[in-house]
Amino acid sequence: METNFSKEQLKDKDNKSTEKIIRKCVHCGFCNATCPTYNLLGDELDGPRGRIYLIKDMLENNKPANDKIVKHVDRCLSCYSCMTTCPSGVNYMHLIDHGRKHIEKTYKRPLVDRLLRNLLSLTLSKSSNFRIIGILIRIIKPFKLFFPKRISEMISLMPLTFPKKTMKNMKVYPAKNRKKPIARVALLTGCVQRVISPQINEATIRLLNRHGIEVVVSKGIDCCGSLNHHLGKEDLANDTFRQNILIWYEEYLKNGLDAIISNTSGCGTTLKDYGFMFRLDKDIKKEAKKISELSKDIAEYLDEKVKLNFNNKLINEKKYRIAYHSACSMQHGQKIHKEPINLIKKTGNKVLEISDGHLCCGSAGTYNLLQNNIARELLKDKIKNIEKIKPEFISTGNIGCITQIANGTKIPILHTVEIIDWFTGGPKPEILRNI
Ligand code: SF4
Ligand code: SF4
Repeated sequence: METNFSKEQLKDKDNKSTEKIIRKCVHCGFCNATCPTYNLLGDELDGPRGRIYLIKDMLENNKPANDKIVKHVDRCLSCYSCMTTCPSGVNYMHLIDHGRKHIEKTYKRPLVDRLLRNLLSLTLSKSSNFRIIGILIRIIKPFKLFFPKRISEMISLMPLTFPKKTMKNMKVYPAKNRKKPIARVALLTGCVQRVISPQINEATIRLLNRHGIEVVVSKGIDCCGSLNHHLGKEDLANDTFRQNILIWYEEYLKNGLDAIISNTSGCGTTLKDYGFMFRLDKDIKKEAKKISELSKDIAEYLDEKVKLNFNNKLINEKKYRIAYHSACSMQHGQKIHKEPINLIKKTGNKVLEISDGHLCCGSAGTYNLLQNNIARELLKDKIKNIEKIKPEFISTGNIGCITQIANGTKIPILHTVEIIDWFTGGPKPEILRNI
C-alpha cells in the first residue's frame, strides 16, 4: 500500500515502523475472511483492511481520532487472526497498538467511557486492587439489576468467590529431590489470574518443581502491562514494562534464569514484544530484548524442554474427551498451537477439535467488559461449537478465555497445565470432582 508520511513524520519511531508495516499490505482482503468482527458485523471498517485504512489516514494526515475511527478500532479484539491469515506478513499487532496510542492522545472519550476505562486500568492491573473490587462486587452482585445494563453485565462476569491458595507465597520454590536444579525459571504469576484462579500458578510450580526445575517469583512483578497497553494507556503500561524488565534482568544477571514462564498466553504475547517496544531505547533495549528472548509459554517450555514423567496407571485408567480451545494470543499472537495439543495427547486422553477454532471466544482482555454485545455473540458461537462435540471438559491456556467460556457453559474448563500436573503426579483438579 502506498504511504505518504512526510520526512518529518518519519523521524518518529512509531511512524517509521507503521509506514513499513502499511507498505507490506497489498489490499487483498484475505484477512477479512478470518476476522471475527468482520464476520459478525459485515462492515469493511470492522475488518483488518478497513482498520488499516482508518489508522493510515489518521496517522499520515496527523489527524486527531474521531468518533468513527474510535468506534471501529475499539471493536477490534486484538485477536491477531488476521496476522495468521495475511500472506504478506503485515504486523497488524504493532499497527493497532500505534493506532490505540494515537487515539488515547488525541481523542476525548465520553465521561462514562473514561470512568470505566480508568476503573478497569486501576483494578485489573493490580492484584491487590482487584481483590478489593472483588469483595465490593460480591456485596453488590445481588442488586446488579438496579445498575445500568453495561455495568450490570460487567458485574455478572465477576466470580462470586475466589478460590483459596494452598501454597505459601515464596520467592523461590526449590526443585524437588535434587541438590542442584536442572533449570531455573521465573514465573509471571499475573494480576487477575493469581486472584481468581490461584490453582493455575500452583499447578505450574508443582509440576516444574517435581521435574527438577526451580521456580522464582520475583517480588515487585504483578501485571505484565498488557491491560493498560491495550487500553491505550501507554505511560502506565511503559512504567510496568520497564519495572518488570529491570527486575527480571537483575535476577538473570545475579542468579541466572533459563526462561521466564507465562501461563497466560495474553501476557506471554506482551512479554515477547518487550524487545520490540524498547528497540530504540538506549537505556533498556538490551535488557528488554533479553527478557523477550527468555519468555516462553508454559506449554511451549514443557513441550520443548522438559521430559515429563507421566503416571501410566492414570493414563490407562480412563480416557477423557477434551476439547482444546486455542486462545487467540496463543495461536495467533505466539504461533503456539500444536505444543499444548501434543502435551494433552501424551496424557492418553482424546483431544477434540473445535470447529472455527481460529475465531475468538470474545474474551480478549477487557473486551468482554467494554464491548459486551459483540463478545456475547462470539461466545454464543464458541459454546455452540464446543457443545456440539460433547467434551467432558475443555482445556485452554489463557485465564481470559477460561473466565469467558465458563460464563457460557456448564462444561468444566481448566488450564492445560492443570491437566499435565494431574497426569504427572499432581492432584486431580477440583473442578473435575464429579467426573
Ligand atoms: S491479508 Fe494482509 S495484505 Fe491482504 S489486505 Fe489483509 S493485511 Fe493487507
Ligand atoms: S485483530 Fe482480530 S478483530 Fe482485530 S482486525 Fe485482526 S482479526 Fe479482526
